[in-house]
Amino acid sequence: MNWISNYVRPTINSLFSRREVPDNLWIKCTDCGTLLFHRELADNLMVCPSCDHHMAITPIDRFSKLFDGGVFVQVPVDQPLADPLEFRDQKRYPDRMKAAQKKTGSPDAMLVAEGEIGKTPIVAAAQDFSFMGGSMGMYVGNAIIAAAKRAVETKRPLVLFSAAGGARMQEGILALMQMPRTTVAVQMLKEANLPYIVVLTHPTTGGVTASYAMLGDVQIAEPNALIGFAGARVIEQTIGEKLPEGFQRAEYLLDHGILDRVTHRGQLRDELVTIIRMLMGLSPEIKGELAAPDTVDVASEEAPASDTAK
Ligand SMILES: [Zn+2]
Repeated sequence: MNWISNYVRPTINSLFSRREVPDNLWIKCTDCGTLLFHRELADNLMVCPSCDHHMAITPIDRFSKLFDGGVFVQVPVDQPLADPLEFRDQKRYPDRMKAAQKKTGSPDAMLVAEGEIGKTPIVAAAQDFSFMGGSMGMYVGNAIIAAAKRAVETKRPLVLFSAAGGARMQEGILALMQMPRTTVAVQMLKEANLPYIVVLTHPTTGGVTASYAMLGDVQIAEPNALIGFAGARVIEQTIGEKLPEGFQRAEYLLDHGILDRVTHRGQLRDELVTIIRMLMGLSPEIKGELAAPDTVDVASEEAPASDTAK
């Protein structure tokens, strides 16, 4: 008969629950098990402060930490045909898609954006592992083509952050066809003489590793990222041998010449700026006054002084 708890409190709760409080304020490190405060972890780029484990980061979070002042513009991606195979396993494919869209707030597993890093204009694409395992379907193919086209149009380099379990089986052969499609997209950049830089994050496997994720002019990986085509167990069973320690991990691949760099997420932005400016033939100095790289018509207007303002 307590009217306060039965009537008033639910109303108050419903008012307060509208505030922006994350559902899980505490996150358990998937590697060392330490409980971490959500905000502290986000400020640390989703890298565990206790064991340095690089956890998955959403494209939006990555872009807001990557671009100068967190400012970027999304590049539109063509929406492909929905569920062309009318695929169904335990769930219908459109239902799976809807659930993933609701969970992540993204249309599909890749986001494309343009902006500046260290005052260097770039186009960037990032894969979202939390969206159906970052699987590569027609949308991801369209996203990479949109990113490559935009980069060629604006004469900017393309930086791609990969994270995927492979091709999206719900799209069958149409997903596999994204391998040659994205390879052609990368070729567009090479023909336009623009750098294409890949940052492989944990995990990057399957058809993604067999196409655009391995075609970069510079191949960088985050520490301890799992990178490979087939899974270790499948390889072991096929060749009948025990695989070496650290097999398919970023450091192992670096030692064996598959990668150029393994870079901590905290240093990644600075390193990308250095590499891009070097490859684009721009001056290495990025701090202080800096003239816009090109395309500014000095005769038309003298306003580069506002360049430093945010
Ligand atoms: Zn940890």
